[in-house]
Amino acid sequence: MSATATAAPKGEAVVIGAGIVGVCCALYLQRDGHSVTLVDPRGVGLGASFGNAGNLGWASCVPAAMPGVLKKVPQMLFDGNAPLKLHWGHVPAAAGWFARFIAAARPSRIEAIADARQALLARLHEGYAPLLEAAGAEDLIDYSGLLMTWESDEAFAGSRYALELRRRRGVPMDELDGNEARQMEPALAPSVMRAVHFPRLAHVIDPLRLTETLARHFEQRGGRIRREAARGFEMGPSGPVAVTTDAGRIAADRFIVAAGVWSKNLARQLGTRTPIEAERGYHNVFPQPGIALRAAIMSADRYIAVTPMEAGIRATGVAEFADPDRPADMRYAEMVERRAQGLLPGLKTEGRSQWMGPRPSHPDSLPVIGRSPRFGNVVFAYGHDHIGLALGGITGRLVADIVAGRPTPVDLTPYRPDRF
Ligand SMILES: Cc1cc2nc3c(=O)[nH]c(=O)nc-3n(C[C@H](O)[C@H](O)[C@H](O)COP(=O)(O)OP(=O)(O)OC[C@H]3O[C@@H](n4cnc5c(N)ncnc54)[C@H](O)[C@@H]3O)c2cc1C
Repeated sequence: MSATATAAPKGEAVVIGAGIVGVCCALYLQRDGHSVTLVDPRGVGLGASFGNAGNLGWASCVPAAMPGVLKKVPQMLFDGNAPLKLHWGHVPAAAGWFARFIAAARPSRIEAIADARQALLARLHEGYAPLLEAAGAEDLIDYSGLLMTWESDEAFAGSRYALELRRRRGVPMDELDGNEARQMEPALAPSVMRAVHFPRLAHVIDPLRLTETLARHFEQRGGRIRREAARGFEMGPSGPVAVTTDAGRIAADRFIVAAGVWSKNLARQLGTRTPIEAERGYHNVFPQPGIALRAAIMSADRYIAVTPMEAGIRATGVAEFADPDRPADMRYAEMVERRAQGLLPGLKTEGRSQWMGPRPSHPDSLPVIGRSPRFGNVVFAYGHDHIGLALGGITGRLVADIVAGRPTPVDLTPYRPDRF
């Protein structure tokens, strides 16, 4: 039976977390005939899924840990202008994560991680297509491509290996000089010397509206959304029988943990430890930018992404390692703003809004997607770092396949929950 068909009732499922990943899991389970409840104290789409750069980046197979990381990370941590931030009180909690991160930067691991990321990214549109069509949300996707820019030959040379990782995995791209890049995007600064164009790479013009539209469709088909926080699980003889929340309990047969960075404590209660850290990112939305962009832009040497969206131009960046619930430090959003102004000198910033949200990141740049090693009725789906918007649909599809016991279109070994 196809994962997209609606089947006979199959019992109750609870999905914990109503970000893009949880909502897609809920929709795919519902399509399989489960009666599904989504639980989230904040409502729908207000975690990392709210404020990302919107890129559906099938060119994003490159892991965060790359050669030379051992030298670069300490340098960046002590440089106030660098995009990598570590809250010093958080050092003891994050030390193990960084040790694993450095271990992931071995060349053989990088190739394997890039393969595993690409295996999911290659199916991102396949994952979303049935959901977008059914919910009438196809107009939220813009296929106008992505331009990656560099402002020095040295920085471009430093990105060669990352570009080759993509090229060897079949990602089409065209190299441009600065003038060719400015012909495509006249708003780019004269300092842009090199660019790579990824044609037809898509972005979402309003990530919150995407998650909300899918969630509304889920409700229209009988799904339930409860604004409650999962606190733990009521255990039966062979696994959980209910989620306990701050407002009561929700009995079910199947449990999906898809709470982004907040999955850590829930997974631990189910006997699985996962080294997930909040890589907090910041954004500014410029509602009247005074310039127009055709495509999304990623500045490799400014470490920012700039995306034309429905509400204006959104500039995102920074990786701040800190407790996800610690108050935002909006100086970092201002740093992103200054970098965006350097890249796009005509950018007008009046009336801009700012935001911070936690990328749920594992040190090996791979999500967890798989059945709990301890309990057969629990599936984990979290830790999608910089590519969780892109991977929401395919993750939901894979989770439904796992629950149904169907063969999956992707080998799930690299995403095993017990790999750490
Ligand atoms: C600045 C920035 C730029 C990014 N750019 C991109 C991009 O261009 N492309 C891309 O693909 N990805 C991007 N990402 C990453 C992407 O946003 C995330 O990977 C993705 O949103 C993760 O989705 P999620 O559903 O797993 O987590 P979240 O969206 O964080 O959702 C988790 C949900 O769980 C809920 N929750 C927490 N605790 C509980 C509990 N106890 N009980 C119930 N619910 C709970 C939270 O309220 C939240 O709603 C970016 C991220 C950032 C921060």
